[in-house]
Amino acid sequence: MKSIINEFLDQVKQRNPHEPEFLQAVEEVAETVIPYIVEHDIYYGKNILLRMVEPERVITFRVCWVDDAGEIRVNRGYRIQMNSAIGPYKGGLRFHPTVNLSILKFLAFEQVFKNSLTTLPMGGGKGGSDFDPKGKSDNEIMRFCHAFMNELFRHIGHNTDVPAGDIGVGAREIGFLFGMYKKISNGFTGVLTGKGMSWGGSLIRPEATGYGAVYFAENMLKTKNDSFEGKNVVISGSGNVAQFAAEKVLQLGGKVLTLSDSSGYIYDEEGIDADKLKFVMHLKNEKRGRIHEYLEKYPNAKFVKGKTPWEVTCHIALPCATQNELNEKDAKLLLQNGCICVSEGANMPSTKGAIAAFHKAKILFAPGKASNAGGVATSGLEMTQNSLRYKWTREEVDNKLKDIMSNIHDACIEYGKDENGYIDYVKGANIAGFVKVADAMLAQGIV
Ligand code: NDP
Repeated sequence: MKSIINEFLDQVKQRNPHEPEFLQAVEEVAETVIPYIVEHDIYYGKNILLRMVEPERVITFRVCWVDDAGEIRVNRGYRIQMNSAIGPYKGGLRFHPTVNLSILKFLAFEQVFKNSLTTLPMGGGKGGSDFDPKGKSDNEIMRFCHAFMNELFRHIGHNTDVPAGDIGVGAREIGFLFGMYKKISNGFTGVLTGKGMSWGGSLIRPEATGYGAVYFAENMLKTKNDSFEGKNVVISGSGNVAQFAAEKVLQLGGKVLTLSDSSGYIYDEEGIDADKLKFVMHLKNEKRGRIHEYLEKYPNAKFVKGKTPWEVTCHIALPCATQNELNEKDAKLLLQNGCICVSEGANMPSTKGAIAAFHKAKILFAPGKASNAGGVATSGLEMTQNSLRYKWTREEVDNKLKDIMSNIHDACIEYGKDENGYIDYVKGANIAGFVKVADAMLAQGIV
């Protein structure tokens, strides 16, 4: 088996040199899915995974815009249309200076499996730009978003490709992108998700990824007759996913000890309660400040510069910032300090070594493609409401989100439970996600 997997990975490496994040994501899937393919005749010998690692289409384009000083700026835009076997391409847009082909291909590849797990009819895609929104004025953000959409519009559509937000793309950016799409296409369609509530957005969409990651952890804890009640929780990030993960943890009786951004983390031993979280939301979403400014209001907390929060003793860890933010050393420290559950809000935040350590210790570990699928699932619900020209209540959407997270959890058990009862959620999510897409690809022939 090892040689079949290595042969496959060598081919992918040769074709995609200099794409470490993409290769990391493919390797994780190959290690669990190839043994399944070999055991199942309907998939064996059809090069199905080799087809899945090749994007259906990769688009890169120039984005020129003018900054407030009148200077012409040039950025690079991307859209990876990875797989449309089960529905239109669907996946977020990331605006961050680190964005490159490798990162977007890894995200698009993960998205294919994640979207399949939601049980909704959505293919996988991802896009973005190396544009850095930090420190830009609202007018600069608007000009960039308009310039970006001026090219992207010809490649997307509500039945073709439906982008959403990701790092650096929140409600403000979606508004500007949607405005330009609507103008150019002369149509009001649900071509983007994460829209504002008065113009086609869905209730609970902003909360969905963070809430979903906590619902997933709640499902995992239930398998041990446990819950969030009284648990110390360490969260990384302080953006959309981290904020709403924290909100849901508080609602379920847990204590949130940390939040972070790329400059370091804050540790509040007394707990970041609902009022303090409201302050963080204002600080990050309205003021667009830095997390260390928390100390100006709550001086009892600590700011640890340049570090991640995994050294803080906790029962549950929720990585909600970015890829590869939790390495093997961090994982060992978490385990040593008594961590029993890790649910990924971010995409691929744990390195391969970290995942191996969690599996070896047999703790509850959920990979992002399962545990953060609530965001895209609720985007799917936004698309449904747009098609119906209807709006569900907050409670209706939240109940659907809970059901979807619980169904994903069940699917992980179906394909990931071993003979000793341990649930390998990585294996479960990869195989469950693969089966639906592979079946659709086989039914549609070699296209
Ligand atoms: P935001 O832009 O709202 O927030 C990102 C947070 O992560 C910020 O606190 C940011 O800090 C921090 N961060 C970003 N890059 C780094 C880095 N290199 N090192 C340390 N910290 C970093 O993004 P989201 O909350 O939307 O996304 C967070 C993660 O969740 C991403 O992995 C994303 O792909 C994933 N995700 C998001 C979904 C969504 O619905 N939004 C859906 C599914 C997954 P700083 O401000 O300093 O950059």
